[in-house]
Amino acid sequence: TRAIFLKSFPKGLPSPDQFELREIDLPALKDGEVLMRVIWMSVDPYMRGRMRPDIKSYIPPFTLEDPLDGGAVGEVVESKHDKFKPGDHIVGFQGGWREYAVVPGDGLTRVDAGIAPLSAYLGVLGMPGLTAWSGLTQILKPKEGETLFVSGAAGAVGSLVCQLGKLRGMRVVGSAGSPEKCEWLEKEAGVDVALNYRNYDSAGALTKALAAAAPKGVDCYFENVGGMHLEAALNCMAFHGRIALCGMIAMYNLSEPEPGPPNLVNMVARSLLAQGFIVSNYMHLAPQFAAEVAPLLAQGKVKFRESVYEGLEKAPEAFLGLFRGENIGKAVVRVGPD
Ligand code: NDP
Repeated sequence: TRAIFLKSFPKGLPSPDQFELREIDLPALKDGEVLMRVIWMSVDPYMRGRMRPDIKSYIPPFTLEDPLDGGAVGEVVESKHDKFKPGDHIVGFQGGWREYAVVPGDGLTRVDAGIAPLSAYLGVLGMPGLTAWSGLTQILKPKEGETLFVSGAAGAVGSLVCQLGKLRGMRVVGSAGSPEKCEWLEKEAGVDVALNYRNYDSAGALTKALAAAAPKGVDCYFENVGGMHLEAALNCMAFHGRIALCGMIAMYNLSEPEPGPPNLVNMVARSLLAQGFIVSNYMHLAPQFAAEVAPLLAQGKVKFRESVYEGLEKAPEAFLGLFRGENIGKAVVRVGPD
């Protein structure tokens, strides 16, 4: 089967020639394992963090000897796990960047193509969806009438945060990097004001626009980007505001760390609560998340977009596109037919 490897560890933004498609032999199936045919694979910003062998994080770094790995939806071909049989559709955090993969059955969940397209289990109904829902409900704890600011608003996580905020009666301001994304946010996702951050060349300019869009201040900030966005949000936070620190994608390709926002002291003066989180803290709430979001999706009350890349060989391009803002909604790679 074929799999994608990293040839060297990138400095700054990775380049496409640092990825390589190679033929590999599949390991023999052991008890508890499942052989899956990959249908869809996910590219996610956190994978950039796994390309730093020197940095200890919540998941171990990739190596140059093994294929890259990540979330995937597939079909069970052979099973030595009692929960799964050939033909089942499954999603898991392993098996991506390959056409076929041997994965532990314990990490898999069966999915239903009748509820949503299979690729949605990598996005709105999958890990990014749970991230959006848990950051909002468990950390920001929104109240009706409050103002929510979401950066990275047109992405996989951000686009669901915005819509769940609207459904909870909030005023929602989102920021994204193109006029097309902003139009989708306002016209389809129901966001009150979408700001194209590329129109603002400094934190001061973004602050002015955010203050105009959030005249009563920002009660809840869902942080996906960092840098200038965090500085502008801190300028506009209301007293007793809450900040969910989900990610800081603007930082992931920097070779030298940037100085932090100079207005961090607003955390103190305004009694702000900021909490970082990783989605794995909330895995136990996945059923509660699915019980809320799957019906909303079926009723058309939640919308989702996907940017589809065709073929395993397009996976590096799909991944690098995340850092150029090429994707609207969830970026997914089709590896094989349904
Ligand atoms: P997205 O679908 O949002 O894709 C990434 C988007 O980020 C791009 O489309 C681009 O949109 C934007 N972006 C890229 N570089 C920059 C930059 N320098 N400045 C501003 N925006 C940028 O990805 P996800 O929804 O999967 O992830 C969103 C965030 O959530 C990331 O920070 C990620 O690390 C984090 N995350 C955290 C998890 C956790 O457990 N804590 C779990 C999952 C995700 P644009 O055109 O708007 O620039």
